Amino acid sequence: MDLTKINLDRRKILKLATAAGVVNLAGCSDSEISEPRVRKGALDKDGKEVTPWTNWSQNQYSTPNERLIPQDTTQLCEMIKKTKQRIRLVGAGHSFSPLVPINETQMSLAYFQGINNIDTQNKTFDVAANTFLASVGEPLWNKGLSLENMPDINTQTFGGAIATSTHGTGMKFGTLSSTVTKMHFVNGLGEKIECSAEKNNELFNAARTNIGVLGATTHMTIQAQDKYYLKERSWMMDLNEGLEKAESLRDTHDHFEMYAIPHADYILGIAIDRIPESELLETTENSGDAYGTFKTLSKVIETVPFLRNFIINKAASTVDEEMRTGRNYQVFGNLRDILFNEMEYTVPAEYGVACLREILDTIKKRDIDVVFPLEFRYIKADDIWLSPFYKRDGCAISCHNFHDKDYKKYFAAIEPIFWKYDGRPHWGKIHTLTAKEQSARYPMFNEFLRARELMDPKRIFTNDHINSVLGLV
Ligand SMILES: Cc1cc2nc3c(=O)[nH]c(=O)nc-3n(C[C@H](O)[C@H](O)[C@H](O)COP(=O)(O)OP(=O)(O)OC[C@H]3O[C@@H](n4cnc5c(N)ncnc54)[C@H](O)[C@@H]3O)c2cc1C
Repeated sequence: MDLTKINLDRRKILKLATAAGVVNLAGCSDSEISEPRVRKGALDKDGKEVTPWTNWSQNQYSTPNERLIPQDTTQLCEMIKKTKQRIRLVGAGHSFSPLVPINETQMSLAYFQGINNIDTQNKTFDVAANTFLASVGEPLWNKGLSLENMPDINTQTFGGAIATSTHGTGMKFGTLSSTVTKMHFVNGLGEKIECSAEKNNELFNAARTNIGVLGATTHMTIQAQDKYYLKERSWMMDLNEGLEKAESLRDTHDHFEMYAIPHADYILGIAIDRIPESELLETTENSGDAYGTFKTLSKVIETVPFLRNFIINKAASTVDEEMRTGRNYQVFGNLRDILFNEMEYTVPAEYGVACLREILDTIKKRDIDVVFPLEFRYIKADDIWLSPFYKRDGCAISCHNFHDKDYKKYFAAIEPIFWKYDGRPHWGKIHTLTAKEQSARYPMFNEFLRARELMDPKRIFTNDHINSVLGLV
């Protein structure tokens, strides 16, 4: 195989990591490779088995004894009023932390789908809570509008994404939660509640990052903006050059991020900028996931695992610059077909580079067995009580490992580095903090608890993890 010419873009980098992961699997005992398990569900009140639930990456699992799918708000209110046990809402199940698992009632608002009231004057639209981010791009575009920014996938629901402060990258842009202007809930008493900056303002500050503890979000209003095209350029940099230039690249591009490859001397930069229609490329190079190339590469590594770092560096050093253009929602949305687990912390923007440098040094020094790239992004401050970006511009750094690898040792080695840089964990990703540490990180933590108490005094919308991170005893 000719390693001198390997084309590598963001998707390919993930595939490369998969390929290199074969090194690790090759050295594993059978017991370390997770076999599909036959899992039995709990029985419902009529003795029928309820299908067990697992999240996207399969690190969270639960056996609810009831699954409720209300068809409308009236039914939702009734179900909540009647319940005799705890309920956890599920969106698309894309959270890595145990926000959703429950062995009592799991509730899905699967019927709460769709967008309406697209207001081209005020550039707002209403969206039902279980609508997938992917569903709004085209209908908004057809009315001349778009979301302000997007995360790197679009398969979450609005209700789930807002609950955890889901974000993309770009120093001028806040999280998806920061674009919400009005929210509608059914609270833990089965009552309909509305909040916005003008009405129930305190609740609004709690609601826009609610980790599913204030009740069920039924729909919301989102501030959009004029539609725009994007140009994405990705290119490999020398690691030190990338770290040195990160802040100036952040300030000169609309959306800038980096993928740092553990044990490598290179880092991938991705700059995404708004362009006029006239600058769209005639044909956009989208090299896909280069599955064939990387399958071959993985076989090479499998036979020479001790050459892992050399091969990765060699591959990275020959990456070509790539460019693609298109409508914003087409450029933002990536397909993630490799299952992984993820820990993400947001540190104050000014500490981002130092924090990433220390993480990469630690991985090298401790020879941590990981090849999966780390993601590095910038996000604007907001005023949402439980947002990791509350009153500070943030740099979000994510560590990943393949879903069938033990991520715990790797994350345990890195998490204290995030603490050192005053990091706040992503609510939907893996972390080990409890209410004691979280309350020290969020100045409005107690105000959030008071809002939760008012919305759900019977503590219906909780589980063990929620009790632990909020200190509900
Ligand atoms: C491949 C992948 C890529 C990702 N990329 C990003 C990224 O770029 N940026 C980022 O910030 N995050 C990212 N995430 C994390 C993800 O965006 C969040 O975990 C998000 O919360 C998942 O949304 P969901 O619809 O799957 O919700 P779920 O994971 O199902 O639920 C999340 C929370 O929302 C609550 N909830 C769901 N629906 C409702 C409702 N109707 N009312 C009230 N509460 C509700 C749940 O109870 C739970 O507490 C990624 C995750 C994956 C798997």
